[in-house]
Amino acid sequence: MTKDTWGRVQNDLKATIGKDAYKNWIDPLELVEKSGNVIRFAVPTNFFGDWVSRNYGDRILQGFLDDGLPVERLDFSVSRGAVTPVKPNGSSPVKSAARPVIKTAKPEADLPGSPLDKRFTFDKFVVGKPNELAHAAARRVSEGGPVTFNPLFLYGGVGLGKTHLMHAIAWEIQNRQPEAKVLYLSAEQFMYRFVQSLRFKDMHGFKEMFRSVDVLMVDDVQFIAGKESTQDEFFHTFNALVDQSKQIVISADRAPGEISGLEERIKSRLQSGLVVDLHPTDYELRLGILQSKQAAQAQFYPGVELANGVLEFLAHRISTNVRVLEGALTRLFAFASLVGREVTLDVAQECLADILRASDRKVTIDEIIRKVADHYNLRLSDMLSPRRARSVARPRQVAMFLSKMLTSKSLPEIGRRFGGRDHTTVIHAVRKIEELKAIDNQIAEDVELLRRMLEA
Ligand code: ADP
Ligand code: MG
Repeated sequence: MTKDTWGRVQNDLKATIGKDAYKNWIDPLELVEKSGNVIRFAVPTNFFGDWVSRNYGDRILQGFLDDGLPVERLDFSVSRGAVTPVKPNGSSPVKSAARPVIKTAKPEADLPGSPLDKRFTFDKFVVGKPNELAHAAARRVSEGGPVTFNPLFLYGGVGLGKTHLMHAIAWEIQNRQPEAKVLYLSAEQFMYRFVQSLRFKDMHGFKEMFRSVDVLMVDDVQFIAGKESTQDEFFHTFNALVDQSKQIVISADRAPGEISGLEERIKSRLQSGLVVDLHPTDYELRLGILQSKQAAQAQFYPGVELANGVLEFLAHRISTNVRVLEGALTRLFAFASLVGREVTLDVAQECLADILRASDRKVTIDEIIRKVADHYNLRLSDMLSPRRARSVARPRQVAMFLSKMLTSKSLPEIGRRFGGRDHTTVIHAVRKIEELKAIDNQIAEDVELLRRMLEA
């Protein structure tokens, strides 16, 4: 099963990343085993494994998830003792895993960029308060015209859309000015090219190649921190391009001044243009992104339905990064299409238990009970008491509902915390409030208000 899926994932990759990248990076991977929720690949060197993991890891993982395999992690390690043939250039197999595989050919004469992801365009980028400025700056740069801010420096945490925006800029420039030479690559790849041209004694070619572009985009520049000769070369390339008024776009996981191991002259160069950051997502942006991705997923999985409230639930609970959010949604769709069940809140919680645990926001049941009691002017003891008058029972149900939504406690555990009630009582409460929210504005508002207070 895993092998078949891997075959399919490989075919998809071939189509999306291009033949060359496929041959260099994917073909040499050897599927070893699936143990638990981890899929192991043997790679020729650590560098190779690192590279594939960073550049293609997400895509490969997504491929397996799309095919319905419950995979959480990929592992790329050097297989000790195993014979790992080096295939790309058809040379004889090497026994030692320590021999680098990257000796295929001299750097190609064409531009050595990374492939652009077809999905990373402006029209698929959802704009909200946290990324408004970065988006506007990216748009401006992509419209061409006189170079006003150089470089554009985008920074922010993992999975907040830096790479997406960079690809979007590249696509847009290519659409508007097909003759412009746009080069997008990761800082790692820049380093790799640099090291390779040193090895092949082709620094001249390297310099020519990088200095002939109209737009240079280097992603994840923090990677060259501490790598002195690469930094030097980067600095010279950078200056040469700025002197010719060529646009440069850089991204990093933090502000230029905060990247340790980066030379001061480079820091100040990077700060000399426009520096904008992508803020952590807020609830509204996450919901917007989920809605847009849901529409996209729905095309692949006709007939799959997410119950009301599932997207809201995900947007509340997964606040770490957008990639995780997307992964969760993909998994839900795959799951629903496999088992042919509607995705209710319960199904979603079960199916995503691991992800939810990892991004738990640590709201406690005690807090929920206190806030809800406050809100409805009840005593704490009322919330836990056996009284069933509506004036007490309804708030108690709201609190149970919120406990289910905002914590990862099980139903029996929640029941216990509400004066030792049975888990069926909790289920009933959750259903009741879900129903009422749809028809009773007052309840819907109360729940929303409480949710915001608890998550603030
Ligand atoms: P980063 O480079 O900052 O780590 P990415 O650009 O790779 O993050 O984004 C991670 C994933 O989240 C990508 O699939 C991307 O399409 C998606 N994503 C991030 N922000 C947005 C957004 N505002 N709208 C739509 N998708 C987004
Ligand atoms: Mg990125």
